[in-house]
Amino acid sequence: MFLNQDRIGATVSQSRYVIGHQQPDTDTVCSALAYARLKQKQEIDAVPARAGELNPETQFVLERWNAESPPLLNDATDEQLILVDHNEYSQTVAGARNANIVEIVDHHRIGDVETSNPILFRNEPVGSTATILTQLFADADETISAQTAGLLLSGLLSDTVVLRSPTTTERDRVVAKQLADTAGVDYEKYGKELLRHKSKIGEKTPREMILSDFKEFEFGPAEVGIGQIETVEPDVVLDQQDAVLAAMDDVATERDYAVFLLLVTDLLEEDSTALVAGTETATVETGLDTSFSNQEAFLPGVMSRKKQVVPPLEDAFN
Ligand code: MN
Ligand code: MN
Repeated sequence: MFLNQDRIGATVSQSRYVIGHQQPDTDTVCSALAYARLKQKQEIDAVPARAGELNPETQFVLERWNAESPPLLNDATDEQLILVDHNEYSQTVAGARNANIVEIVDHHRIGDVETSNPILFRNEPVGSTATILTQLFADADETISAQTAGLLLSGLLSDTVVLRSPTTTERDRVVAKQLADTAGVDYEKYGKELLRHKSKIGEKTPREMILSDFKEFEFGPAEVGIGQIETVEPDVVLDQQDAVLAAMDDVATERDYAVFLLLVTDLLEEDSTALVAGTETATVETGLDTSFSNQEAFLPGVMSRKKQVVPPLEDAFN
């Protein structure tokens, strides 16, 4: 049953709904749109749907490619569903347990969905569902329009952080180039534009920023806090460096940290700017083999707190 009945008429009430997961992301929404189109090209009755509100990035994508939002499906009871980009009941649209799941296209671990009949279940360890859908168009000998290519490219680039996530496979790279050609965009340039809409850092206070992805460590006798902000626009953080450092000083004092280290990680350039507060910053300089100037240091190639920052700091403090 759809909320916005104006978009869904009686004629499609026997349709299959192509639908992604709750808290929809760009890959989930664009995959639903693209797969419904492929089905329609094959004269199979299917309409796209979504299981929740669109995020700002996906809204941008739909506007950019002149695509209409799939309607919201608020209860899938007794409907026929084609699931894309998920296969676990904890992520499905409400009512999915009492729906008839007729097909699944996904790139996640196999979850818990059950069906009464055998179905087409296509799951591949690639960077996005959009990558698999591009292959499904080819398998069906159907061409991809510039608009559909733009949508699929958006899903692929969003899920893989413009091919930089460790989940990216060689196939994702090949497919991204192919889709970008068809869509008529430079995928690197478009990807940056896309990711700018992902983070809403600018709307957080400095204190919220520095504590939103934050971990505490005990390195020998020292209590050390390490925060990380992963972003495509580090300048949004670094332009308010004084306020950010003041917030870090406050937290370090309140919690008696020897050091509060903040990594501002540029996802596109694949490096980090470190900001530091606390009394034992010299030990951080030794550990990271760097030196701070005005409580700031540039760390080329550093993306991972877990792999590149915590081990050397633990050594330096012990
Ligand atoms: Mn997803
Ligand atoms: Mn996905």
